[in-house]
Amino acid sequence: MKIHEFQAKELLSDYNVPIQRGHIVYSSNEIEKTIEKVQNEFNSDAVVVKAQIHAGGRGKGGGVKFCPSTESAIESANEILGMNLITHQTGEEGKLVNQILITEALDIEKEFYFALMFDRAKNADVFIVSTEGGVDIEEVAEKTPEKIVKAWVNNDTYLLDDAINTIINALSLNSFNDAFEIFTNIYNCYSNSDCNLLEINPLVITEDQKIIALDAKVDIDSNALFRQEKIAKFHDTSEEDPLELKASEYGLNYIKLDGNVGCMVNGAGLAMATMDIVKHHGGEPANFLDVGGAANVDTIKNGFKIILSDPNVKSVLINIFGGIVRCDRVANGVIQAVKELNLNVGVVVRLQGTNAKLAKQILDESDIELISAETIDEAAKKAVGLVS
Ligand code: GDP
Ligand code: MN
Repeated sequence: MKIHEFQAKELLSDYNVPIQRGHIVYSSNEIEKTIEKVQNEFNSDAVVVKAQIHAGGRGKGGGVKFCPSTESAIESANEILGMNLITHQTGEEGKLVNQILITEALDIEKEFYFALMFDRAKNADVFIVSTEGGVDIEEVAEKTPEKIVKAWVNNDTYLLDDAINTIINALSLNSFNDAFEIFTNIYNCYSNSDCNLLEINPLVITEDQKIIALDAKVDIDSNALFRQEKIAKFHDTSEEDPLELKASEYGLNYIKLDGNVGCMVNGAGLAMATMDIVKHHGGEPANFLDVGGAANVDTIKNGFKIILSDPNVKSVLINIFGGIVRCDRVANGVIQAVKELNLNVGVVVRLQGTNAKLAKQILDESDIELISAETIDEAAKKAVGLVS
């Protein structure tokens, strides 16, 4: 689960990591008094206005503005709050800015890249840093990969010393007495908050020689939210794809994609294989949907509803292997769903496994038009054929 910059900074602050401080604004009538509050609190006219959306690259997209005066701050805040912000991470449709962060303006001497994540290959947490911060780290990785330094936490002892000393050297922070403690605190924040990723880009050195997190991007392991009471409340549903949100309410694993062949499958592995075969036959899957091992009539119906809510869908491929879920149940679910929903796309059904024969009989005897298939290959061909 992604969280906003201001929320990530709050977590860091809980661990005594120095952050660029500020206040959040949700509606335009709070703009002027919040700017004044920030100016007074940090004793300067200059403030920074920052769009809060779940995507990076806001600065380049016009969502982060350094404002030297009250006037420019009011103007930028009004412009950014409520804008549709397009960055290289939002996709071309952009994201609506529902809240802005008004922060102190810092005088920056250096900008570093900093990230912490889990390296599955090494089975260890890894610090990733670069002296080339602030800009796109992807670009640094491509053009000057030698400027990216990685340091792994010892996965026997969990001692941080070696890793932190490596990054302190890499960033030439040896003269900063608090550097070790700050990196330790960031690590504790990352670890105790169940982060998949904790990225600070940029981590800055200010002109008055302080290390400060200027930005923060955090992705939390959703499976750990049950024990992260505070973070769970940071969930911002307005940032999610409405269909994916609906699917999660139904307990379905659904990811929307750009193609036009809707796929309803049980089991993540089979779902991926089905998408591959659709592509193999020249089609483009419209989604990933795993209805789960214990799918019932309602799950199938809800899955169908979600697939069909996507206007791009031109055919549906149902590929179910009946193990725990019996094929006759799936067949009944499909029939109910088709009857309830106004279906105007072709549906190809392939059911194999427990009670497959009974399922075929149920489908044959129903008065709804479905195209049946025996093998996954045949099913994919037919579903792709319907759209081309
Ligand atoms: P991003 O574009 O979404 O990554 O947003 P950031 O929070 O990283 O801000 C983008 C850039 O704005 C930073 O890399 C800085 O160069 C600049 N910026 C943000 N806050 C300040 C500030 O307080 N002082 C100065 N001088 N620049 C800032
Ligand atoms: Mn940034």
